[in-house]
Amino acid sequence: YLKTSDMDQGSLTPHVLIFPLPLQGPVNSMFKLAELLCLSGLNVTFLVTEHIHGRLLRYTDIQSRFVRYRGFRLETISDGLEEDHPRGDRFMELFDSLKYKTKPLFRELLTSGRLNSEARGPVTCVIADGIMGFTGDVASEIGVPFVYSRTISACCLWVFFCLPKLIESGELPFAGDDLDTPIKSIRGMENFLRRRDLPSFCRTGDLSHPSIQLYKTESQENPRAHGLILNTFDDLEGPICSEIRALCPNLYTIGPLHSHLKSKLSGTTTTTSSDTSSSSLWKEDRSCITWLDAQPSKSVIYISFGSLAVLTWDQLMEFWHGVINSKTRFLWVIRPDSVAGGDWETRIPAEISQGTKEKGYIVGWAPQEEVLAHQAVGGFLTHSGWNSTLESVIEGVPMICWPYFMDQQVNSRFVGEAWRLGLDMKDACDRVIVEEMLKDLMETRKDEFIKRADEMANLARKSLAEGGSSYCNLDRLIKDIKSMSQ
Ligand code: UDP
Repeated sequence: YLKTSDMDQGSLTPHVLIFPLPLQGPVNSMFKLAELLCLSGLNVTFLVTEHIHGRLLRYTDIQSRFVRYRGFRLETISDGLEEDHPRGDRFMELFDSLKYKTKPLFRELLTSGRLNSEARGPVTCVIADGIMGFTGDVASEIGVPFVYSRTISACCLWVFFCLPKLIESGELPFAGDDLDTPIKSIRGMENFLRRRDLPSFCRTGDLSHPSIQLYKTESQENPRAHGLILNTFDDLEGPICSEIRALCPNLYTIGPLHSHLKSKLSGTTTTTSSDTSSSSLWKEDRSCITWLDAQPSKSVIYISFGSLAVLTWDQLMEFWHGVINSKTRFLWVIRPDSVAGGDWETRIPAEISQGTKEKGYIVGWAPQEEVLAHQAVGGFLTHSGWNSTLESVIEGVPMICWPYFMDQQVNSRFVGEAWRLGLDMKDACDRVIVEEMLKDLMETRKDEFIKRADEMANLARKSLAEGGSSYCNLDRLIKDIKSMSQ
C-alpha cells in the first residue's frame, strides 16, 4: 500500500503529530486520518493515551500499521487517571485530567526531542481534537503550527459555536418542560431545531453546568488554529459549513474519513474485511458476519448504541419487546458494560429469549463498518453518534435514531427532518413506538427510505472520487501541511 513520496524521506518530510480525544469515536476517525496522511508520504506520530494504547494492543492489529506505512509511529501519553477509572461513564473527569495533567506532559513530549530521530525531523504540525484546546496552547507556545479536528457533525459544531448567542437571546437556559419550543437564534437553523434537539446538556437549566462551559469555551478557541478539519462532506452539510467558514475560513471537509481511506487504498468505497483497519477498543465478534450471510437481502435491522451509551433495564426491555413484536430480523450489539446494573443475560424473560433465537443475533462488539456494508442489513437503529451516522450514510442504510446524549440530539434531527434518511425516535422509549417505527422503516416506507439513502450514499461517494469536494480538500490539507513544514 505504500506510495513513494515525491519528497526525500528524513528530516525534510513533514512530521505530523495526531492527537485524538481518547474515546472510541474520535480514535476511529483520527486513526483513518493518520493513515491517509501516511499514504501521501508524510511522517505521522499517532499519540494515544496509555489507557487507549493498552486496549488497541489487546483488541486490534495496530502493529501491522508499522509494516504497512513507513511513516507511521505510535506514541503514548498519560491521561492522568487511575487505570480502573470508568472513563466512558465519567468523561468530564477525563477532560479535566487531560487539561491539567496531560498538558505539561504534552509540552514535554514536544520539546524533549523524543519524537525525532535520524529518519524523521521534529514535529512540524500538530493535528489535535479541537475539544482539547490545551494542545493549541502548547503548540503556539513552542511555535509549531496546529490544525484542529472535530469529530462531530458540522451541524452540532455550529450549535456549539452559537451557545453564546443562545444565552444572549435568553433561549438558554430553559426549564425542562416544554421541549417542543422552537429555537430561533441559531443562524441557518432558525425554527428548525426545538429545545429537545439541542445538545443534551442544554436541558440541565444551569448555565454553569460543566458540559456547557466546556463546549462553549473550547469551541470558541477553534478559530485560533491554522485550520479546522471536519469529518463530513459538502453535499451533506454544505450550508452549515458556510456558516462555520465565517469563523474558521480554512475549513477542510474531508469525510466520510473511513471511506476516504478505503477509496485511497483500493479505489473503491466498499468494505472488505482484509482492507479495513480496526481501531476497536472492544474485541470484535466476527461470527455475526457469518450469521448475516445467511439472511435475505436488506432484511436485518442492525442495532447499536455506540461505545458510551448505557441503557436502563426498562429501556432494554422496551427495545427488546418492540423488536420481537415487529418480527424483524435483528443483529444487536450489547456491550458488556452497556446495561445499568449488569447481569442482563440471566434476567431475560423466556418470551423474548425464544423470539431472539428465531430472529436475532447478539454480539458484544461488531465490526460495524462491515456490518453496515453487508447486503443483509436494511436498517440501523442507532444512537446517532457521528461516526455511526456517517458509516450508515455511505452504505445507504436508513436509520431509526434514538439519540442518547451530547451531539446526538442534533444529529438525529438532521437525519430525520433535513436529510430524510430515517426516523427520529428521540425521547421515546416505548415498545409500541419501536415496533411501529421498525415496520415503517423496514416494510411500509422501505422503498422511499432506501431510495433517499441511496441518493445520499452516491453523493458521499462522489465527494471522495477524484475531483470531489472531500478529495480536493484532503489534497489541499496535505499541500498546506507541506508548506507549513518548510
Ligand atoms: N463500533 C464498532 N462496533 C460496534 C459498535 C460501534 O466498531 O459494535 C464503532 C462504530 O463503527 C463507530 C464507533 O464505534 O466508528 C462509535 O462512534 P460513534 O461516534 O458512532 O459513537 P460513540 O461511541 O462516540 O457514542
